[in-house]
Amino acid sequence: MNLTSPSQVREWCLANGFRPNRTMGQNFLVDLNVLKAIVDAGLAPCAGKESPAVLEIGPGLGVMTEELLARGCRVTAVEKDPALAARLAAALGSPAGLSVVEGDALDVIAGRGAFAAFDPAAFDCMVSNLPYQAGTRILLELVERRAPAAMTALMQTEVADRLAAKEGSRARGLAGVLAQLDYDVEVVRKVSASCFWPRPEVGSAVVRLVRHDRAAAMSPEERRMFRRIVKRGFEHRRKQLGGVFRGLLESTARAEELSVEDWKGLAAAFVRGGAEI
Ligand code: SAH
Repeated sequence: MNLTSPSQVREWCLANGFRPNRTMGQNFLVDLNVLKAIVDAGLAPCAGKESPAVLEIGPGLGVMTEELLARGCRVTAVEKDPALAARLAAALGSPAGLSVVEGDALDVIAGRGAFAAFDPAAFDCMVSNLPYQAGTRILLELVERRAPAAMTALMQTEVADRLAAKEGSRARGLAGVLAQLDYDVEVVRKVSASCFWPRPEVGSAVVRLVRHDRAAAMSPEERRMFRRIVKRGFEHRRKQLGGVFRGLLESTARAEELSVEDWKGLAAAFVRGGAEI
């Protein structure tokens, strides 16, 4: 089957009694140009590496899996839908470089239960067309573990914009600050809803995160404090930070105005001062 042919994908679903599930975010990518573009963007940070180890979350029918394997990657594909997980390897000709993990990516990444041996740091990069509903949570689980070092994902445009938003922009929020603590985030390109079947109701974008080392010197306490205060700050995003952290800080700024460096400075000062947040 040609997985970038909408009619062939539709026919396969009909013939196999498979109905794409909206709550599982099953919108299959059926555009060859976009496929090549996202895989190019995803593998660029691993350039020069022979057969990179790639983590793919939500392989679906395997359109991206197939392209990654064709480019010599070793792919670990994590799929929640048992029917899709069961057919993937055989449908792609049981390639040696593919291993399929059936499970919820959130459990797999966290190493819960049967997935205790799973280590995101074992991968050179993550390349995925993430399910819309769980996309942000899945990405933030990886970000929290600071692995893999490069992650490229197709996500809802709004989510991609929020992850990349700089201080002072209206899209600035918790997810963006948490992601940017350890990663440089960029929106690589927008992708039209017509590139998917079934067509989603929202626009999509390719977002890429590449790990930097500007937070390498932070202690575990400072990291914990950072997460806590950024969360608290954005829970009260209209409030001045002097009001949010009364008694600890004098500031008329609001959460969205602070840079990652500002938040790091605050976290370090709060840890030094023994602040209870
Ligand atoms: N990568 C494919 C499919 C994308 S649709 C393509 O581009 O065509 C999203 C995929 O994520 C679906 O296969 C869906 O079953 C899977 N999925 C949804 N929630 C998931 C979760 N929590 N963990 C792992 N996979 C999930």
